[in-house]
Amino acid sequence: MKLPFFGETDSDSCKPHLIMPVKVSPDIVTHLGIKSSLAENQWSVIIQRSPLLEVKGNVELKRPLAKAASRLPLSGRRLKRGPDQMEEALEPEKKRTRGLGTRVSTTHPRAAALSSAPQTQGQTTVPKAPRKPAPRCSTAVAPVLKTQKPGPVVPAQKPGTTAAPPMVGGKKPKRPAWDLKGQLCDLNAELKCCREKKQVLDQENQQLRDQLQEAQQQALALGAERRSLEEELTRVRAQAEQGQRELGNLSAHVLELEERLGTQEGLVQELQKEQLRLQEERTGLAARLGEQERRLQTSEASLSDSQEEVASLRQEAAAREAVLAEREDRLHGLEMERRRLHNQLQELKGNIRVFCRVRPVLPGESTPSPGFLQFPSGPCGPSDPPTRLSLSRSDERRGTLSGAPAGPTRHDFSFDRVFPPGSGQDEVFEEISMLVQSALDGYPVCIFAYGQTGSGKTFTMEGGPGGDPQMEGLIPRALRHLFSVAQELSGQGWTYSFVASYVEIYNETVRDLLATGTRKGQGGECEIRRAGPGSEELTVTNARYVPVSCEREVEALLHLARQNRAVARTAQNERSSRSHSVFQLQISGEHAGRGLQCAAPLSLVDLAGSERLDPGLALGPGERERLRETQAINSSLSTLGLVIMALSNKESHVPYRNSKLTYLLQNSLGGSAKMLMFVNISPLEENVSESLNSLRFASKVNQCVIGTAQANKK
Ligand code: ADP
Ligand code: MG
Repeated sequence: MKLPFFGETDSDSCKPHLIMPVKVSPDIVTHLGIKSSLAENQWSVIIQRSPLLEVKGNVELKRPLAKAASRLPLSGRRLKRGPDQMEEALEPEKKRTRGLGTRVSTTHPRAAALSSAPQTQGQTTVPKAPRKPAPRCSTAVAPVLKTQKPGPVVPAQKPGTTAAPPMVGGKKPKRPAWDLKGQLCDLNAELKCCREKKQVLDQENQQLRDQLQEAQQQALALGAERRSLEEELTRVRAQAEQGQRELGNLSAHVLELEERLGTQEGLVQELQKEQLRLQEERTGLAARLGEQERRLQTSEASLSDSQEEVASLRQEAAAREAVLAEREDRLHGLEMERRRLHNQLQELKGNIRVFCRVRPVLPGESTPSPGFLQFPSGPCGPSDPPTRLSLSRSDERRGTLSGAPAGPTRHDFSFDRVFPPGSGQDEVFEEISMLVQSALDGYPVCIFAYGQTGSGKTFTMEGGPGGDPQMEGLIPRALRHLFSVAQELSGQGWTYSFVASYVEIYNETVRDLLATGTRKGQGGECEIRRAGPGSEELTVTNARYVPVSCEREVEALLHLARQNRAVARTAQNERSSRSHSVFQLQISGEHAGRGLQCAAPLSLVDLAGSERLDPGLALGPGERERLRETQAINSSLSTLGLVIMALSNKESHVPYRNSKLTYLLQNSLGGSAKMLMFVNISPLEENVSESLNSLRFASKVNQCVIGTAQANKK
């Protein structure tokens, strides 16, 4: 087998070997027959070898080779023979070395590296084989020769040759020049020795080659192993990168999970708090439940007692209910009796009653002369409410026969009641509250205020200005009384409802005083119609009928009516004085338990001023209009008087239709109706004429008696 490091191409890989500097011992050089002209330590051999072998070999093979070199048998000293002898002695080595001549360099300084030449991992056992020191000289060859097979037989000293001179002082004695035979014999012996050394060196060389080959194989194996390890490393790195990425992802995931964990922990803490709170609450509730259960037990115990008591009470209640029903019957009977008696009383008082009211002298008005108006006491003395009025009038046109002016003429009038100027609104209402009761009992009631303008009609009906409760007129007081009595009667099973309307009749046209919105103030013309065919009930078209149940609602209606009048007022025409204001309240009562019903209108009428127009006045455009108004008013007031007279005289024809006023009030005047007329008188002397006219008209009315009233019972 060829040795690749001797400069030949590697037959396996076909790659050239590297030239590797190897330090060679001078002994080896000498032994190999390399020229030894350099100093011993400068000998070096450059060996071509594989890169891997170079790396490995530099490190691992240094020592064994050095040792091997030290065991080389030849010493430089032996070579100091004659050139011829050396040539001859070294002939075989020379030949071999020359074959290596191109591969051995002695010039490279790094040849020392050869000292680390092939030895791998201690497997190279170069030192083992040549353990025995090689023979260094002829004297050293001897032991070798002893152990070896007998080499070529040294020819015995032939005759004629001198025997080898004896050893003197350990040194071989030099043969005399003539002893050629002896010298030849020595040379032969030396040659033999050299041949033996060569044989030993060949063996060593072979061993070294084997070691080298083994090392190369190992290097190849290691290279393959390295490549696989590199691949493994690459794969492991890729895995590591992948692992790193996964680690990053996992770290992010871990962070996210930690965050979520934090949130969850917060939630858990909250829930734990909530749980604690609920547990406390539950404990509290349980305690309360226990308490409630205890109470329940107590209550159940007392309940059973109570049930017994209730049973006895029920029996008692049933007995009382029977008594109550009996009493209720009696009460109802009494109520009906009261109504009957009340009505009888009213009839006895007269279905048509006339009250005279004299207003006080207002600030700024001239005080009348004493005795102008007198209020004589009744038959029972001053404690009796006044019913008479005496008015003194001095008539300058009339004279006595002697020519002296006649004294004042007294005019006495008697009415159902006379209210002097100091009478309050409450005093006046007290007298008429009985009539309001009659309206609730189902009898139509109509109350008029008659008199000249400024005599106190509106004051009497609606009240004074400023909203002073003491100044409230008949309308608010009557309605309050109605609501109050209706409430009382509800305890007896009666249910009442009230619907209000408020209209004015001006120049024989009817206008709604409760109009709102665009109709406000305009009033729109209204017509008086029957509620239905064959119905006695009258209704005003285009007028508002407003259900009322309390005083506030009534106040709001009166306020609205005042606003509507103010809008319609003009400078030339104080229309409210020139028109009749009719407040009507439809009262409906029902006793569901007994199937009783009653219904009646309560009418409160503030009549237009009754004053006459002075016939001596020049008639301008305004006066003509005033005259027309006055004629309309006088006509309607005359018709009212005629209607009352016709009713009183029980005439077959009652001229209701002659005026809008009587037509609208016809259900409140005839038959079972109760009528009250206030005649309002001015206390001033200058109004005496009008006062007398009013008093005369009222006296006529007062003389009328309308037939026995019948309640509108169904
Ligand atoms: P009429 O409506 O008849 O035209 P009013 O009711 O408007 O008269 O009364 C005229 C004035 O007299 C008003 O200022 C009113 O306050 C006042 N007056 C009327 N009657 C009384 C009275 N009884 N007490 C006090 N003032 C009164
Ligand atoms: Mg008035």
